[in-house]
Amino acid sequence: MQIDLGTLRLDLLDDGLFELRPETFVKVTKSWNTELLSKGRHHPRIKVGFNSLLIRGEGKTVLIDPGTGDKERMAERREYNLDWPRKVLPQLRQLGVRREDVDMIVLTHLHWDHAGACTTVGYAGQIEPTFPRARVVIQRRELDGARQALAEGDDGYCADDFEPLAAAGKFELLERDDEQLFPWLSCHWSGGHSPGHQIVRVGYPETVRVSYLSDVLPTTGQLALDSGMSYDQNPGELRCAKEKFMKIAARDQDLVILVHAPRNRTGFLSEIESGEFKFAYTNS
Ligand SMILES: [Zn+2]
Repeated sequence: MQIDLGTLRLDLLDDGLFELRPETFVKVTKSWNTELLSKGRHHPRIKVGFNSLLIRGEGKTVLIDPGTGDKERMAERREYNLDWPRKVLPQLRQLGVRREDVDMIVLTHLHWDHAGACTTVGYAGQIEPTFPRARVVIQRRELDGARQALAEGDDGYCADDFEPLAAAGKFELLERDDEQLFPWLSCHWSGGHSPGHQIVRVGYPETVRVSYLSDVLPTTGQLALDSGMSYDQNPGELRCAKEKFMKIAARDQDLVILVHAPRNRTGFLSEIESGEFKFAYTNS
């Protein structure tokens, strides 16, 4: 799916489906839950998608959350029945984007399904940056939090996804909550799902903007402020972040991207009552 924002061309890239246990979803909208419940291989599972964003324009090529990537991932493939191979890297090739063309990657956080594609296995078996020229922008709190979580045995993170980037000096670590990277690209710390989780906004204020809310609003199943995922590290913080960023997206009529929606991946939010939101899908 292609989105044109004046001088910027955006492509929404589908990385393929995977499956989560129903108990992963906390207080989701009932109809959403049952609609996506599938038998899975052995047990009930909910199929979720993964949606990355490619931005080209103003002389830049930027990727937001490039997805799982092409490292082997045997444990995750077993646990989550990942569609394999993942699709973002082949789609970039189809769109004529070479790995060396990418100037910047913005990561909302470092979980493997969002950040795995940042590294790949090189010719000699070494793990190296997938996009050799790209600076990788994250919150400093996320790198610190990921290292701490890994030390405590959290399997949402994988050191191979980000330590080679740190070793190669690729990270640009954001210290402040709100950072304007380009006049048309900004990052905003949310926390909640992970310590340094941030959302990304694309576009100029005078035109329609895109809100990439990532795991602040992964699907429309989590529209209620108290709903979320069992992986959410700080549910209270997440609730505040949801209210804040959904209000902004509704007020400014941003086109919202749902990172884990398996279909119907974009739309517009409106606030029907204080703290109660509705989502109108666009065709995608
Ligand atoms: Zn996620």
